[in-house]
Amino acid sequence: DIDCVYEALLNTAIDVDSLEANSHLDEVWIKEVIKKAGMKLKWSKLKQERIRENKDAVRRPGTDPALLKPRSPVVTIMGHVDHGKTTLLDKLRETQVAAMEVGGITQHIGAFLVSLPSGEKITFLDTPGHAAFSAMRARGAQVTDIVVLVVAADDGVMKQTVESIQHAKDAEVPIILAINKCDKTDADPEKVKKELLAYDVVCEEYGGDVQAVHVSALTGDNLMALAEATIALAEILELKADPTGPVEGTVIESFTDKGRGPVTTAIIQRGTLRKGSILVAGKSWAKVRLMFDENGKILNEAYPSMPVGIIGWRDLPSAGDEILEVESEPRAREVIEWRKSEQKEEKGKDDLKIMEEKRKEHQEAHRKAREKYGSLHWRERSYIKYLERKEQRPLKPKEKVERQSNVLPIIIKGDVDGSVEAILNLLDTYDASHECELELVHFGLGDISENDVNFAETFDGVIYGFNVDAGSAIQQSAAQKGVKIKLHKIIYHLIEDLQEELSSRLPHTL
Ligand code: GDP
Repeated sequence: DIDCVYEALLNTAIDVDSLEANSHLDEVWIKEVIKKAGMKLKWSKLKQERIRENKDAVRRPGTDPALLKPRSPVVTIMGHVDHGKTTLLDKLRETQVAAMEVGGITQHIGAFLVSLPSGEKITFLDTPGHAAFSAMRARGAQVTDIVVLVVAADDGVMKQTVESIQHAKDAEVPIILAINKCDKTDADPEKVKKELLAYDVVCEEYGGDVQAVHVSALTGDNLMALAEATIALAEILELKADPTGPVEGTVIESFTDKGRGPVTTAIIQRGTLRKGSILVAGKSWAKVRLMFDENGKILNEAYPSMPVGIIGWRDLPSAGDEILEVESEPRAREVIEWRKSEQKEEKGKDDLKIMEEKRKEHQEAHRKAREKYGSLHWRERSYIKYLERKEQRPLKPKEKVERQSNVLPIIIKGDVDGSVEAILNLLDTYDASHECELELVHFGLGDISENDVNFAETFDGVIYGFNVDAGSAIQQSAAQKGVKIKLHKIIYHLIEDLQEELSSRLPHTL
């Protein structure tokens, strides 16, 4: 019956607009998260907003073919969890750092360039997994030219392999197959190729056009062949861009650097970015003060396909936001003002109202579940305390029972778009035990705030922070309110912690 109760809970609707009003994150994540939470959403409003938003500063229409110059491919690595995406990225990055012999500190800018001995370059996006990819695409941002599909030769085609293939197909991005872990004794690369036939990924030896490279990300074996295959495919694709005229690009990540303020990393897609350029992205604008690459090296110019860190933003744009160059600061302000005023019309709800709404939604879900399934052993949540305070009376035991459930409400805060997304991605793999359901009540970027603590208190939730801090005042307030704040610097630790928390909340049936 518990299943049925969840079903009822999951039918709760959430007001996406109010969620967005409260965080920097874009609707795609919200959508994913809400999908994860199984909730329905009021979607159309936001979409309309986006469409309007982009009306005022627009991409240039078609370019004179004579102006087009070849550009490097931009590659996303996808594949099933544990098949070696991160290891592959690390190895590729390592090769690059070794080849460049620079003593610079590697900076995480969401993407990096690999130069081949031939002088050819490849840009790798370094958030593995398909969440980033689909998040961008859902916003109309197509950054990736080629998908490198990693399949472990000892494991074969798995669920996320198939999902990755689907994502690449939907985006009409060609695939190169990296059959990984070929160093293992039980590796069976041929089996992988055969399995993939069922998903319409046909390798060259089966008469198809998908190049397959046998690699070991661990030993670095054959990575050069993989890079060469990528270049060969890029040549066939005839990737070109116009390096002149106003700049266009896409935000890969954005975060606040303590010393430097808002930093955005982007892939340039058209034009050449220079110091002093005026850019707009989302609801923020920038006069480019400084540009740097993944080695922290200052850049004077950034060309199409180059990943670049940009400093000079007034606020934080979001991952997937389109970057457009405009002619002047007044023009940038005008565009942003326009975009903001459009947004304001749709909003105007403060956090308290959001919480109140959420609380009502919960009550409603519980009411429905009760109606349908009668009395159950719901677990107590401390928003009962909240209700008691609000109603200024203790709830009767019977009333309490009516408001209990087996849900672990969580709040996730991360340092950059990419990390929050990676966590959400991992949560996706959490197989609901049907005994305790995860419920993301709030998420965002930056250090833990009072607002997060309030959310957590209201929903008896736990705050998970990744690479962020919680100031001592916040810690104190959390302690007073009985809110747990858990800070981690390693995603897997965070997930493990979450799993422990979940099992501690399993129902204690009598
Ligand atoms: P991801 O989840 O796809 O990012 O996978 P990881 O890169 O984290 O790799 C998962 C595990 O597989 C790690 O323990 C890696 O050390 C291991 N691994 C990755 N590539 C190879 C490989 O080529 N050979 C072997 N033997 N192990 C590998």
